[in-house]
Formats: sequence, structure tokens, C-alpha cells
Amino acid sequence: MALTGLDIFKQMPKTNCGDCGVPTCLAFAMKLAQGGAELEQCPHVSEEARAVLGEAATPPMRGVTVGMGENAFTVGEETVLFRHDKTFVNPCAIGASVDSGAGDAELDAMAAAAKAAAFERVQQHLACGFVAVRSTADAARFALAAARVGEASGLPLVLVSEDPEHMTAALDAVGTAHPLICAATADNADAMIALAQKHSCPLVIRAAGLAAVSELTEKAAAAGLKDLIIDSSPATSGVALRDQVFARRAALKGKFAALGYPVIAFPGELAKGDEMLEAVFAAVGVAKYASIIVLSGPEAWRMLPLLVLRQNIYTDPQRPMQAESKVYEIGAPGSDSPFFITTNFSLTYFIVSSEIEASKISARLGVVDSEGLSVLTAWAAGKFVPERIAKFVRDSGVAEVLSHRNVIIPGAVAQISGELDEELDGWNVVVGPYEAADIPAFMKARAG
Ligand code: SF4
Repeated sequence: MALTGLDIFKQMPKTNCGDCGVPTCLAFAMKLAQGGAELEQCPHVSEEARAVLGEAATPPMRGVTVGMGENAFTVGEETVLFRHDKTFVNPCAIGASVDSGAGDAELDAMAAAAKAAAFERVQQHLACGFVAVRSTADAARFALAAARVGEASGLPLVLVSEDPEHMTAALDAVGTAHPLICAATADNADAMIALAQKHSCPLVIRAAGLAAVSELTEKAAAAGLKDLIIDSSPATSGVALRDQVFARRAALKGKFAALGYPVIAFPGELAKGDEMLEAVFAAVGVAKYASIIVLSGPEAWRMLPLLVLRQNIYTDPQRPMQAESKVYEIGAPGSDSPFFITTNFSLTYFIVSSEIEASKISARLGVVDSEGLSVLTAWAAGKFVPERIAKFVRDSGVAEVLSHRNVIIPGAVAQISGELDEELDGWNVVVGPYEAADIPAFMKARAG
């Protein structure tokens, strides 16, 4: 049976030294019980306690890192089945594949496209996470292609081959980049496990069905390999979804360690060349519960919708998305351009800035820190009130670049205009439209 935080706390040193990165032993015990920490993070835990806590203190899903440096990604470490229970921890990685048998020009074009598949949305950076190279020619070509694509894209690599000889060649070329080895099967497990150990790389365990997968993960774990990814080789998207849900439930609810690893998915193989179907299968994987999704290509039309879906699912529901609090320049504003004020709820910021852009009149938009609340909610909560707005305007320095002293507030909070007038000495408070959609007409009317 899983231990509670208090059960674990009884075994801790209770010195509250903070060396684990958590201020108290109790807080650390609670985190451990929820699977958000590992026992090894406490350097002072006794051998006796270690024996008592054992596997109960191991996170139910292993975190696995692929790649090196700033583009490396970590998947896994999830502790809940549903985002609304708490939050998901590590967004799934979405990347693209290429065959090693492709010509050099095709490899270069693919690497360039993968590198270029990066987007800014709601002030977050969304990008292709890795490049998977499939061995479709000889071992030497696999090694060359992996090195070429890895260097040109700068992205983490997934090396796809079940031939140990091919994998040996590729790892000799790119092993120091900490690629994901894909895959160990019942037939090649000993050789692939040895390669993963030799190069300290994460390894995909592939078998037909979860029972066979768990036998192989136990074998790899017994050999000392912890960084594993699983692939149950589903024949259809329905089986893929079933296996992904079952594995996640078994790990989190059943504490079944042999399936406590992130899952890799190949939606293109299931879609058999139908690109729209591939996108649908990939979307299912984003929602439940593929941690690494290998697409057939890195094109923006393929990547962007899935990255946006991922962004929506992996956004922490307990923390509203916030735009940075500052004065934004929209277009090329001069000293006489309008100056708007709004809150820092991301959606509010993007709607208002889009409408200002749509007016084709340059302006400045001051985004007040309202702790991620929208205009009316922030006003009701006391986060978008005259004192706060006035302080923001004074501290922002916007007065130094403006030749006027007009500040336009949202029409939804027209009632604060008088008080804001008093707070902002020397400024003229203008009540803007209630709806952001009316901003273009409002601006044109003022300009005309
Ligand atoms: S490092 Fe160990 S002893 Fe120190 S606060 Fe954390 S759990 Fe307690």
C-alpha cells in the first residue's frame, strides 16, 4: 500500500535543514508521497529509513531526459491522471522523423525545417522538440545521417533502429549528445541494454503489448537502467490509446513500477500515410498519454496545431497565464500615439493587442500586473484599481516618451475613471470601449 506523507515523515531526520530544496522535512515527505520528489534528494536519510520506505518513496513515473544543453527535454514525472486534479508536469515532446536513406539535400532540408518549426504563442516558445532518424540504409549511413541531422538542427536525437550494429555505429557518432535509443526488443535486448549503459543514454523498450513491455523493463531495470521509455507496438490508434491509459493508470494508481515510464508514440505508422489521420492520432496522444510523439515531418502545418493543443493541456490550471507587465509598443508608436491600459491576463492582453493592431494605428499598451486576472475579475478582486494602475503608469516611465498625458482605460471599468484621475496627477483619463472589438472604431474616431 502507498505510504502517506505522515508515514514517510516519521522516517525522516526532522532537522529541517533544507538541503533537499524544500524548507522542512514534513514538506519534503508530502512531496515524496505525491511522487514529486525522490528519496535520494535528502542526503541525510538513514539506511534504516531507506529500507522502510523502499519503493514507496519512488516517483510513480520516471522522469527521462533526452539530449544535452538548452534543447534537451525531460518527459515523465507525472503524478496525476487528470490535469484538473493538479497539473501535468512535463509537456510531451513533439518531433519529426527522417529516413537515413534520404539524400544529403533532403536531410539538410528536414533539419532546417525542424529547426525553423518554432513559434511564439501567448509569450511562450513552442518548438519541434527533436529529430528522429530511422535507419533505412546501412549502418554507416545511419551514423552519418544522425550526425548530419543532429548537427544541422541542434535538436535532441531519437535513433530508430532495432539492429544493434546500426545502433553501435550511430552511437559512436552521436552518443555524447545523449540521444534516445529506439528500441530494445525481446530479440536484441541484451545488446541494446549494453549500448545504453555504455553511452549512458535513455532506451526505448518495445514489445507487443504491455505485459511483454513490463517483462523487458524489469529486465532493463535489473541491469541498472533507469531511464526507459516504453512502446507497446500498438496495431491501431484504439489500442494505442488503451495501452497509454492503462500504463498511466497502472503506474500512478497501481504503483506498478514496471510500467512507470513515459510512452513513445508513432502516429504516422498507425495512420499509414494519411497525414490528416496522423494529426488526429497525434492529438489523441497529446491528450492521453504519449510523452514523446514522432511525426512524419516537421512542417509548420503539422507541428503548430499539436503544439498549441499541448500548450492548452499542459498549462497549469492553478496559475492563470500571464503576460509580462510592461508597456508594449504596437506598430511604430510616436510621442503622440494613444496609450491604453489593460490587465496581464494573457487572453486579455492578446485580444486587446490584436484589436489595436487591427486598427492599423500605432499605440502603446500598458499591461498592469493583475495576477493574471481579466479586467472585471481583477477590478472586483482589487487587483486593477486606481492606486495600482497609477503606480504602474508612474513606474513604467511611459510619460517620458509621450507628448500627451491621455491614458485610455477599458470601458468595463469606467467607474474608476474619476478616482484614477485623482491618483494620476496631470493625466487625463479617457474611458475606452467596453468591448475590445470596438477598439479599431474607437481609435479611428479619435484619430479623425
Ligand atoms: S534534506 Fe532531509 S533532513 Fe534536510 S530538510 Fe530535506 S528531508 Fe529534512
